[in-house]
Amino acid sequence: MAAPELLSDREDGDASQVLRRIFGYDEFREGQREIIEHVVAGGDALVLMPTGGGKSLCYQIPALVRKGTGVVISPLIALMQDQVDALRALGVRADFLNSTLDFDEQRVVEATFRAGELDLLYLAPERLRLESTQKLLDAGDVALFAIDEAHCVSQWGHDFRPDYLALSALHERWPDVPRIALTATATPATHAEIATRLRLEDARHFVASFDRPNIQYRIAPKDEPKRQLLELLRSEHPGDAGIVYCLSRASVEKIAAFLADNGITALPYHAGLDARTRTANQARFLREDGIVIVATIAFGMGIDKPDVRFVAHLDLPKSVEGYYQETGRAGRDGLPSTAWLAYGLQDVVQLRKMIDTSEGDDAHRRRQGRHLDSMLALCETVECRRVQLLAYFGQEGKACGNCDTCLTPPESWDGTVAAQKVLSTVFRLDRERHQRFGAGHIVDILLGKKTPKVAQFDHETLSVFGVGAELSAAEWRGVVRQLLARGLLAVQPDHGTLALTEASADVLRREREVPMRREPERTPKAKLARAAKSAAAPAELSEEATATFEELRAWRSATAKEQGVPPYVVFHDKTLREIATLLPSTLEALGTVNGVGENKLAKYGQQILDALAP
Ligand code: ADP
Ligand code: ZN
Repeated sequence: MAAPELLSDREDGDASQVLRRIFGYDEFREGQREIIEHVVAGGDALVLMPTGGGKSLCYQIPALVRKGTGVVISPLIALMQDQVDALRALGVRADFLNSTLDFDEQRVVEATFRAGELDLLYLAPERLRLESTQKLLDAGDVALFAIDEAHCVSQWGHDFRPDYLALSALHERWPDVPRIALTATATPATHAEIATRLRLEDARHFVASFDRPNIQYRIAPKDEPKRQLLELLRSEHPGDAGIVYCLSRASVEKIAAFLADNGITALPYHAGLDARTRTANQARFLREDGIVIVATIAFGMGIDKPDVRFVAHLDLPKSVEGYYQETGRAGRDGLPSTAWLAYGLQDVVQLRKMIDTSEGDDAHRRRQGRHLDSMLALCETVECRRVQLLAYFGQEGKACGNCDTCLTPPESWDGTVAAQKVLSTVFRLDRERHQRFGAGHIVDILLGKKTPKVAQFDHETLSVFGVGAELSAAEWRGVVRQLLARGLLAVQPDHGTLALTEASADVLRREREVPMRREPERTPKAKLARAAKSAAAPAELSEEATATFEELRAWRSATAKEQGVPPYVVFHDKTLREIATLLPSTLEALGTVNGVGENKLAKYGQQILDALAP
């Protein structure tokens, strides 16, 4: 790859100029300027910023302004090619070293680095541990180390990579090279852990707001999940790209097939697929418009596709941190997006059981239990979801107007008596604890249903039989779910049968009240759409502008295909929308559009003007 000349005289290129010339952006986002100035001056930094907040520029610009090559450590080998392609499209001299390169290709990259002809070099952490790589870095000029996805150093997090632990030694070997660690995962505990493990205690810490106002958070009671999902996609996101997360490989396959049967382009992604299918499905998701990926959580870290319009969870995530990372993959472009989760009784039973039977010591299980409790509290809250999410990350917010509880506040009702009825049924069944009595059987007893199981165990004779006519079966399931969520009921690890907890006694003795959440009516679609729009405020395109935008998109598709890169590497939707509205007639005017930097102007400017010419 020939080195572009663009950045050759970069002495005069301060940060703002690089932002405009290379990236084509007019202004820094919140926090970016301070971080960039600090690192340009040689300072160490620990950056916590939500997904889509704009972390990449925080090390890319310092790497361009400082002398030498910025070395980026990232665990995402499969995405390095795309990251490098996106930078090259901007005229930045970027490359990567990882196991996908053959010997000769590696030699070329190494030589380019040694010659000082690289602005950015991407490395996997295991690569950096090799003595040969360290010698290579010694032989060149390193401008900075950027440690991306820094939460991978956290041993208790969901993305732990042992090779990240060795990054603590960077400072000893290269004491004069500034380090910047970045992550979107940031509970106070993870934050502290990253700082200690990467030896960044003395670094300056930058914590951005974790709010993602353009994402609409919704958590719905799980009823018929497939039908609910299909309705969401059909009525709110037809033709949109999105991610559907499921817990198991089997459900991934099932849901992907179901969506495909219903005319949606859906592809599966999980660790059980062979590497080639996985790579191909990921590549289609990135390169084609409107693909839905159905995946286990193994999918998505570092996916910088800006126009993911929805993230749907069909199973309960194991922690709020995980949930926030996954939902954060929606709407990086700032346009309205949906985070939708279907959640039910069975999720709680399944996850509690999984934790109880998981490997690891008690402390580990307790930690997992606490993670789940926070996730359940988020699901059962009667308050703004966003306020609750931000509070989890130690930040304050006000009721947002763009989440389900803000739009249709659930009522709270006194569930003490209902709780007592459920708990006393569980207590009476406890004598037969070797039997498998699930929540369904308990609800049948309360409703006085003469099922075969009721007959078999003579449960008609229980004093609680038929005492629950005041609630429907669905409402009783809601009561059981909320008791489980709050630890007033437990799941026995062996059978998955329900059991009392220490706290249950307080309720049975009437020493504790149990306020419950009543599921509200479904929010009308129009109301959801209005809230989404006012939160993200995208300019409504006129009819003509829409037509132009579609033409530009078609041009972009063809261009991207020709160059073998994802469409967003050519231009973002946001940039095309702005062009379709402003209709620039000169290169100079086109160059002022957000997202049009010098290199793209030189490369595509004339083609765009031709396409716009009447
Ligand atoms: P993160 O790594 O924090 O998830 P990215 O660095 O991928 O986020 O940035 C998210 C999106 O925002 C990208 O599409 C990027 O081009 C865009 N972006 C970043 N900084 C700016 C800025 N100052 N002005 C306009 N767009 C920006
Ligand atoms: Zn809200």
